Amino acid sequence: MSAEQQVIVVGAGPTGLLNALGLAQQGVVVTILERASALQSAPRAIVYHWATLDGLARLDLLDDARSAGFLKQDYAYRVHRTGEVIEYGLSALEGKVRYPHNLHLGQGALAAVILQRLETFANVRVLWGHEVTAVTQDDAGVDVTVRAGEQNRTLRADWLIGADGAGSRVRAESALGFDGMTWPERFVAANVRFPDDRPGWAQSTFYVDHVYGAIIAKIDESGEHGLWRYSYMEDDALPAGSAEERLPEFLANVFGKEIAQQTELVAMSPYRMHQRSAASYRAGRVLLAGDAAHATNPTGGLGLTMGLFDSYVLQEALGAVVQGRAGESVLDGYAQMRRRAFLDHASPRASANKRLLFHSTDPAKLDKDLEVFRRMSRDREFAAERLYFTKTLETPSLLAD
Ligand SMILES: Cc1cc2nc3c(=O)[nH]c(=O)nc-3n(C[C@H](O)[C@H](O)[C@H](O)COP(=O)(O)OP(=O)(O)OC[C@H]3O[C@@H](n4cnc5c(N)ncnc54)[C@H](O)[C@@H]3O)c2cc1C
Repeated sequence: MSAEQQVIVVGAGPTGLLNALGLAQQGVVVTILERASALQSAPRAIVYHWATLDGLARLDLLDDARSAGFLKQDYAYRVHRTGEVIEYGLSALEGKVRYPHNLHLGQGALAAVILQRLETFANVRVLWGHEVTAVTQDDAGVDVTVRAGEQNRTLRADWLIGADGAGSRVRAESALGFDGMTWPERFVAANVRFPDDRPGWAQSTFYVDHVYGAIIAKIDESGEHGLWRYSYMEDDALPAGSAEERLPEFLANVFGKEIAQQTELVAMSPYRMHQRSAASYRAGRVLLAGDAAHATNPTGGLGLTMGLFDSYVLQEALGAVVQGRAGESVLDGYAQMRRRAFLDHASPRASANKRLLFHSTDPAKLDKDLEVFRRMSRDREFAAERLYFTKTLETPSLLAD
């Protein structure tokens, strides 16, 4: 069978779409296979760290993403038990990095921005409602079986990128494992509207408490009140279907009854949380990226941040291999470096973030742990050093001399 496309990308989440865009910009012929009939809109990522903005700019997406969302610098930690507020900001990075702002934008809106750009390329097609059910490969290419409605068919390509999320079929078909652990708690992400003018609350607030811990971040300025993401944890033994009934109690304990009563719930989703990674991000002609390669709990917003960093380096390297500008060893470099970045840096940091926010039961230890943020609030150089962490999660171009 001859290949109609050079690369198949499985999954039209942000990771798959971004890889497809980067390949398309290099002239590679790409087909995206997506199980769903349209982009996913459940509440998931909203914050993309400052260090990811360079890559969006290189792909010529930053202006569109910025217009769809907004840029912000302020952060705060608030401690439920003591009332302490610690404020710091990305302004500490001004003059040191090109984009000293985080981008806030719903994941669905980010995907829509990428898809809109993809639609301007004749060498890319998206097949919606196509679920990948099997993957096999030989020396010359990859065969992908898909179910589309009642029909099964097989598509062939030279290379395959599995960007089909944490439950990746591509990863399972390629026997790449997914070792790690699943957290016992349920994470609940709610999109809510409530008054913006709450003095002392930043546009990203980490609310520290072992019962009422939460991550509260502004999504956009639509409507009379802005749209906010309110994320918290609860016991997984509680029925997921009634999470909505329990939300007002969380809000009342965090903001007070008045704000809780004014809050309008727009959307809500429960999630399981994991710290897991595939054993390798490459199996021959199959490459993994984004949540298909690694899954983390979302505290601190490192999940898609890692997916973006994967995509920036993978699309460039794979495009060069497809076009004979680089040897396949760059793909091994991709697989090794991205896996180490996740296991050695992103995953431990996300676990530490979760412990601090949601599991600080010892007041003396919490007081000590918060010292780093207190120092960030008064020492700009120190703050800049700490904020530089997200840049260390990026893998530089594998094509550089
Ligand atoms: C509540 C919450 C908040 C978060 N907040 C942040 C944040 O602020 N910042 C951040 O960086 N990260 C955050 N994350 C993590 C982020 O949501 C994920 O890292 C991100 O979704 C990964 O994108 P992806 O494209 O790799 O995978 P996905 O978004 O999961 O996309 C995978 C796609 O593949 C498709 N698919 C699956 N199986 C098949 C198949 N067999 N055939 C065809 N298609 C298939 C799916 O339908 C889907 O469209 C958050 C996560 C959660 C749950």
